[in-house]
Amino acid sequence: MYNILIVEDECKIAETAMEYLQRDGNNVRHVTTMSDALRAVDAETDLIVLDLMLPDGRGEDLCEHIINLYNTPVIILTSKSSEQSRIRGFACGADDYLTKPFSPRELVAKVKSVLKRAKQRDNIIRLGNEIMIYPDRRTVTKNNIAVKLTPNEYKILLCLANNRQSVVSRDTLVEDINAPDAADRTVDVHIRHNTAKT
Ligand code: CA
Repeated sequence: MYNILIVEDECKIAETAMEYLQRDGNNVRHVTTMSDALRAVDAETDLIVLDLMLPDGRGEDLCEHIINLYNTPVIILTSKSSEQSRIRGFACGADDYLTKPFSPRELVAKVKSVLKRAKQRDNIIRLGNEIMIYPDRRTVTKNNIAVKLTPNEYKILLCLANNRQSVVSRDTLVEDINAPDAADRTVDVHIRHNTAKT
């Protein structure tokens, strides 16, 4: 169950969106103004469905503010359908865009796909500016180029990355990679190989 906040001053639209998103198993709240939205949003909010034209301000400003504060995924919902306003919507950091009148089923589908992407984004581990680990895909890149690692090398790198604030003992690594041949000097050999690769 996800916590979704709808910021929309047209109550009929908000009610329809709410009904469909609740039916899909989400916990949905609704506010009608920018100031109420600022009070309602917190770190527990998983996604915001945001109207751009609000009675007390521009949704674009709210979008930027919320993303800076919590990095919350945002889907913009608006009658502004021009290409210019779509570009402005994405420029303020929104993840997706839906033009009114919209299909509530399409909204539910977009919510699901944005939440899925956000989850993958949260899982990515960055090591400095060059190395990225994608645990969902079990892949590693260096400067955007895939690094070829054996399953054990990958497990060791992941274990070190997850514990990068501390020193990881050889025993912990052996335990973590949990391979039948992982005893003795195997880990040392892997570490030597990895140092050469990365
Ligand atoms: Ca409006």
